[in-house]
Amino acid sequence: MDQVKPKVFFVLGGPGAGKGTQSAKMVEKYHFVHLSAGDLLREERSKKTQNAELIEEIIKSGQIVPSHITISLLESAMQAKGLDKMFLIDGFPRNQENFDVWIKLMGDKVEFKKLFYFECDEETLKNRIKIRAQESGRSDDNDETLVKRLKTYNESTRPIIQYFDSLSQCIHIKADKPIDEVFQEITKKLDEIL
Ligand code: UDP
Ligand code: MG
Repeated sequence: MDQVKPKVFFVLGGPGAGKGTQSAKMVEKYHFVHLSAGDLLREERSKKTQNAELIEEIIKSGQIVPSHITISLLESAMQAKGLDKMFLIDGFPRNQENFDVWIKLMGDKVEFKKLFYFECDEETLKNRIKIRAQESGRSDDNDETLVKRLKTYNESTRPIIQYFDSLSQCIHIKADKPIDEVFQEITKKLDEIL
Protein backbone atom coordinates (compact mmCIF):
# COMPACT_ATOMS: atom_id res chain seq x y z
CA MET A 1 0.00 0.00 0.00
CA ASP A 2 1.22 3.50 -0.76
CA GLN A 3 2.22 5.32 2.33
CA VAL A 4 1.36 9.02 2.51
CA LYS A 5 4.49 11.03 3.06
CA PRO A 6 4.43 14.63 4.27
CA LYS A 7 5.71 17.11 1.69
CA VAL A 8 8.54 19.21 3.03
CA PHE A 9 9.89 22.61 2.02
CA PHE A 10 12.83 24.06 3.94
CA VAL A 11 13.12 27.81 4.53
CA LEU A 12 16.59 29.25 5.13
CA GLY A 13 18.22 32.67 5.22
CA GLY A 14 20.10 34.79 7.76
CA PRO A 15 18.65 35.97 11.06
CA GLY A 16 16.11 38.65 10.16
CA ALA A 17 15.75 37.55 6.53
CA GLY A 18 11.97 37.27 7.00
CA LYS A 19 11.55 33.50 7.22
CA GLY A 20 8.85 33.67 9.88
CA THR A 21 7.04 36.65 8.35
CA GLN A 22 6.85 35.18 4.88
CA SER A 23 6.04 31.69 6.17
CA ALA A 24 2.93 33.13 7.87
CA LYS A 25 1.83 34.62 4.55
CA MET A 26 2.46 31.33 2.76
CA VAL A 27 0.34 29.50 5.32
CA GLU A 28 -2.54 31.85 4.58
CA LYS A 29 -2.39 31.54 0.81
CA TYR A 30 -1.24 27.95 0.27
CA HIS A 31 -2.32 26.07 3.41
CA PHE A 32 1.15 25.06 4.40
CA VAL A 33 1.76 24.00 7.97
CA HIS A 34 4.54 26.23 9.32
CA LEU A 35 7.06 24.68 11.71
CA SER A 36 9.75 27.03 12.96
CA ALA A 37 12.62 24.97 14.40
CA GLY A 38 13.59 27.99 16.52
CA ASP A 39 10.05 28.37 17.90
CA LEU A 40 9.89 24.66 18.74
CA LEU A 41 13.21 24.90 20.58
CA ARG A 42 12.07 28.00 22.49
CA GLU A 43 8.88 26.19 23.46
CA GLU A 44 10.87 23.18 24.65
CA ARG A 45 13.18 25.50 26.62
CA SER A 46 10.21 26.98 28.45
CA LYS A 47 9.01 23.53 29.57
CA LYS A 48 11.93 23.09 31.95
CA THR A 49 12.77 19.68 30.57
CA GLN A 50 16.26 18.27 30.96
CA ASN A 51 17.20 19.84 27.64
CA ALA A 52 15.90 23.31 28.52
CA GLU A 53 19.12 24.67 29.97
CA LEU A 54 21.25 23.28 27.16
CA ILE A 55 18.92 24.82 24.56
CA GLU A 56 19.06 28.25 26.22
CA GLU A 57 22.84 28.15 26.45
CA ILE A 58 23.21 27.27 22.78
CA ILE A 59 20.63 29.79 21.53
CA LYS A 60 22.26 32.58 23.54
CA SER A 61 25.66 31.78 22.09
CA GLY A 62 24.31 31.74 18.53
CA GLN A 63 25.25 28.11 18.01
CA ILE A 64 23.26 25.11 16.85
CA VAL A 65 21.36 22.70 19.08
CA PRO A 66 22.26 18.97 18.65
CA SER A 67 20.25 17.55 15.78
CA HIS A 68 18.50 14.74 17.62
CA ILE A 69 16.75 17.29 19.86
CA THR A 70 15.54 19.52 17.01
CA ILE A 71 14.55 16.64 14.74
CA SER A 72 12.57 14.86 17.40
CA LEU A 73 10.63 18.11 18.03
CA LEU A 74 10.05 18.50 14.29
CA GLU A 75 8.91 14.92 13.86
CA SER A 76 6.48 15.08 16.78
CA ALA A 77 5.04 18.34 15.46
CA MET A 78 4.59 16.81 12.01
CA GLN A 79 2.82 13.80 13.45
CA ALA A 80 0.55 16.02 15.51
CA LYS A 81 -0.44 18.09 12.46
CA GLY A 82 -1.04 15.09 10.21
CA LEU A 83 1.27 13.43 7.72
CA ASP A 84 -0.91 14.31 4.74
CA LYS A 85 0.09 17.97 5.08
CA MET A 86 2.56 20.20 3.27
CA PHE A 87 5.16 21.52 5.74
CA LEU A 88 7.28 24.63 5.72
CA ILE A 89 10.23 23.88 7.96
CA ASP A 90 11.72 27.24 8.86
CA GLY A 91 15.28 27.66 10.12
CA PHE A 92 16.43 24.09 9.51
CA PRO A 93 18.78 22.40 8.50
CA ARG A 94 21.37 24.87 9.77
CA ASN A 95 24.56 22.84 9.41
CA GLN A 96 25.96 19.63 7.99
CA GLU A 97 25.18 17.65 11.12
CA ASN A 98 21.52 18.80 11.02
CA PHE A 99 21.31 17.70 7.42
CA ASP A 100 23.06 14.34 7.86
CA VAL A 101 20.95 13.33 10.85
CA TRP A 102 17.77 14.53 9.10
CA ILE A 103 18.55 12.31 6.10
CA LYS A 104 19.29 9.38 8.37
CA LEU A 105 16.16 9.72 10.53
CA MET A 106 13.64 11.37 8.20
CA GLY A 107 14.93 10.92 4.66
CA ASP A 108 12.59 8.03 3.88
CA LYS A 109 9.67 9.36 5.87
CA VAL A 110 9.12 12.61 3.94
CA GLU A 111 8.88 13.81 0.37
CA PHE A 112 11.34 16.69 0.11
CA LYS A 113 10.28 19.35 -2.40
CA LYS A 114 12.43 22.52 -2.38
CA LEU A 115 14.43 24.85 -0.21
CA PHE A 116 13.44 28.53 -0.11
CA TYR A 117 16.51 30.66 0.24
CA PHE A 118 15.82 34.21 1.41
CA GLU A 119 18.74 36.29 0.19
CA CYS A 120 19.43 39.41 2.19
CA ASP A 121 22.53 41.55 2.72
CA GLU A 122 24.07 41.65 6.17
CA GLU A 123 23.40 45.32 6.79
CA THR A 124 19.67 44.83 6.24
CA LEU A 125 19.70 41.76 8.52
CA LYS A 126 21.40 43.74 11.29
CA ASN A 127 18.97 46.65 10.97
CA ARG A 128 15.93 44.38 11.08
CA ILE A 129 17.17 42.51 14.16
CA LYS A 130 17.90 45.82 15.89
CA ILE A 131 14.28 46.86 15.33
CA ARG A 132 12.93 43.43 16.30
CA ALA A 133 15.03 43.46 19.50
CA GLN A 134 12.96 46.36 20.85
CA GLU A 135 9.93 44.10 21.11
CA SER A 136 10.89 40.44 20.68
CA GLY A 137 12.19 39.78 24.18
CA ARG A 138 14.41 37.11 22.63
CA SER A 139 17.61 36.38 24.51
CA ASP A 140 19.47 36.18 21.19
CA ASP A 141 18.26 39.49 19.70
CA ASN A 142 21.21 41.54 20.96
CA ASP A 143 24.37 42.85 19.30
CA GLU A 144 26.68 40.31 20.89
CA THR A 145 24.64 37.22 19.99
CA LEU A 146 23.80 38.59 16.56
CA VAL A 147 27.47 38.68 15.59
CA LYS A 148 27.72 35.01 16.57
CA ARG A 149 24.51 34.06 14.76
CA LEU A 150 25.77 35.71 11.58
CA LYS A 151 29.07 33.87 11.91
CA THR A 152 27.26 30.54 12.36
CA TYR A 153 25.03 31.37 9.41
CA ASN A 154 27.95 32.24 7.12
CA GLU A 155 30.16 29.34 8.14
CA SER A 156 27.66 26.52 8.69
CA THR A 157 24.33 27.29 7.01
CA ARG A 158 25.51 28.85 3.73
CA PRO A 159 27.28 25.64 2.62
CA ILE A 160 24.01 23.74 3.12
CA ILE A 161 22.15 26.25 0.94
CA GLN A 162 24.89 25.96 -1.70
CA TYR A 163 24.56 22.19 -1.65
CA PHE A 164 20.81 22.36 -2.37
CA ASP A 165 21.48 25.00 -5.01
CA SER A 166 23.98 22.72 -6.74
CA LEU A 167 21.17 20.15 -7.04
CA SER A 168 18.78 22.80 -8.44
CA GLN A 169 16.59 22.34 -5.37
CA CYS A 170 16.83 25.92 -4.22
CA ILE A 171 14.27 28.68 -4.86
CA HIS A 172 16.03 32.04 -4.59
CA ILE A 173 13.98 34.88 -3.15
CA LYS A 174 15.27 38.46 -2.91
CA ALA A 175 14.37 39.19 0.67
CA ASP A 176 15.74 42.72 1.13
CA LYS A 177 12.51 44.33 -0.07
CA PRO A 178 9.20 45.32 1.56
CA ILE A 179 7.12 42.38 2.83
CA ASP A 180 4.51 42.43 0.04
CA GLU A 181 7.10 42.64 -2.74
CA VAL A 182 8.98 39.65 -1.33
CA PHE A 183 5.74 37.71 -1.06
CA GLN A 184 4.90 38.51 -4.68
CA GLU A 185 8.13 36.90 -5.80
CA ILE A 186 7.38 33.86 -3.64
CA THR A 187 3.89 33.40 -5.11
CA LYS A 188 5.23 33.78 -8.64
CA LYS A 189 7.82 31.06 -8.11
CA LEU A 190 5.59 28.80 -6.05
CA ASP A 191 2.71 28.94 -8.52
CA GLU A 192 5.08 27.55 -11.14
CA ILE A 193 5.75 24.38 -9.16
CA LEU A 194 2.56 23.66 -7.20
N1 UDP B 1 18.30 26.84 16.43
C1 UDP B 1 18.98 25.64 16.36
N2 UDP B 1 18.59 24.71 15.44
C2 UDP B 1 17.55 24.92 14.58
C3 UDP B 1 16.86 26.14 14.65
C4 UDP B 1 17.26 27.09 15.59
O1 UDP B 1 19.92 25.41 17.10
O2 UDP B 1 17.24 24.02 13.78
C5 UDP B 1 18.71 27.83 17.45
C6 UDP B 1 19.98 28.58 17.04
O3 UDP B 1 20.73 28.84 18.18
C7 UDP B 1 19.41 29.88 16.44
C8 UDP B 1 18.21 30.12 17.35
O4 UDP B 1 17.70 28.81 17.65
O5 UDP B 1 20.34 30.92 16.44
C9 UDP B 1 17.11 30.98 16.78
O6 UDP B 1 16.64 30.40 15.59
P1 UDP B 1 15.47 31.07 14.74
O7 UDP B 1 15.31 30.28 13.49
O8 UDP B 1 14.28 31.26 15.59
O9 UDP B 1 16.05 32.51 14.41
P2 UDP B 1 15.83 33.41 13.13
O10 UDP B 1 16.85 32.95 12.14
O11 UDP B 1 14.43 33.16 12.66
O12 UDP B 1 16.06 34.80 13.59
MG1 MG C 1 12.44 33.04 12.69
